[in-house]
Amino acid sequence: MRNSRAATTVAAALLLASVGLTTGTSAQANTPASGQGPVEYRVHDALARAQTLDAVGLDIVKRQGDDLFVVGDETTGAELSQLGFRTEVSKRYPAATWASPRLAPGAAPQDETYDGGYHTVNAHYANLTAAATAHPDLATVVDYGQSWLKQQGRGGYDLKAICITKKVSGDCALNPNSTKPRFLLQAQIHAREIATGELAYKYVNYLVSGYGTDSTVTNLLNTTEIWVVPIVNPDGVNIVQRGGNNPVLHRKNADFTSADLSRCGDSAGSQPGVDNNRNFGYHWQSNTSKCDQTTSTSNGSADSEPENKALEQLWSQLFGDHRADGASDKPDASARGTALMLHSYAGIIILPWEYSNTVHTPSDTQFRAMGKAMSAFSGYPYGQAGDLLYNAAGGSDDYAYGKLGIASFTIELEGPGACDGFTPSYSCVNSTFWPYMVKTFNYLASKAPSPYN
Ligand SMILES: [Zn+2]
Repeated sequence: MRNSRAATTVAAALLLASVGLTTGTSAQANTPASGQGPVEYRVHDALARAQTLDAVGLDIVKRQGDDLFVVGDETTGAELSQLGFRTEVSKRYPAATWASPRLAPGAAPQDETYDGGYHTVNAHYANLTAAATAHPDLATVVDYGQSWLKQQGRGGYDLKAICITKKVSGDCALNPNSTKPRFLLQAQIHAREIATGELAYKYVNYLVSGYGTDSTVTNLLNTTEIWVVPIVNPDGVNIVQRGGNNPVLHRKNADFTSADLSRCGDSAGSQPGVDNNRNFGYHWQSNTSKCDQTTSTSNGSADSEPENKALEQLWSQLFGDHRADGASDKPDASARGTALMLHSYAGIIILPWEYSNTVHTPSDTQFRAMGKAMSAFSGYPYGQAGDLLYNAAGGSDDYAYGKLGIASFTIELEGPGACDGFTPSYSCVNSTFWPYMVKTFNYLASKAPSPYN
């Protein structure tokens, strides 16, 4: 059921070219895709069986009461019916078309956009460089690894972070013995969650432009190192942005062969690649079904993906290791620093453990207090993943807290109307998400000195 996706054939052919797996011609690259786009279904009274839906590889994106919303394609509704669920179509995404991102004549490289204003990977990276060039006293760009395609010598990207602080000697070093505590913001580990990267883009510019004029920013940068990884999964984002005004809703990375792509297609119901947010090696669970949205490995083991290994190394370099690895071990008294991974579109604040909500961390009281504080900004509910949606193993927070003792959170964005979904109207970034998310970022940065007190 999950592998025959006629509607995705054209998108798959385009993707073969886009990720360098075929020699795509320019004629091919300019041909719009036909066929139908991903479909969101409302699945009634499904909450109690959320783990069942996840286990068969269905793509749960949010919840309202006891109803879950699943994104798939035209065949997914029948699949849900066979599983005994009552469903209705709640949203249709347009089919992906082929329209490369545009840079207006005379515009700066950081202004290359798609889908109404979203910045491309190259634009993100140009923005980091521009911030550091314009503000050498505040910003340092760090190359912390390579994407899967880059490691394969097939295009791809370096993995980039930026450190922003009012620099004094020794700041922004890849060394956990920093003078200042650190807050790390990360976005677009799931490529299609495009508003997340945009918030990271805005936060970088808010910080470097606000120092000396905005007292909140000035105080933060005098006392804290703020690190931003705007695009955790750039190979995936490259696939997404090639849809132009109808982005390809690719979630995973680009660790796949042309045979995988031919077999899986590329729809929200069936897709090649590895889910980077199921690949982290703490309470990891194997899912080797290559077309699932939650494929957790490429080689049968955790931490198989270069994006994951590089991020784990960065976390270790920035925060050190302040916790033994057992489920009930407390972080030591010198543990400090906070981290946030952005997702969409469930509208929730998630704290560890995410692999199981029947087990609580020894920092549960502090995590829930911080969750409650963040909830006051956005109105999003907070809790462990299984409290709010479903349990999910191999995610970033469980590794960051479980292996290293970092106070690490996930927030899924969600907005009303045109701000809902994977591809909200670009204006939603400024009008809906930014006002409460900037408060959330600054709050977590303010907790960096002592998150567990
Ligand atoms: Zn996500």
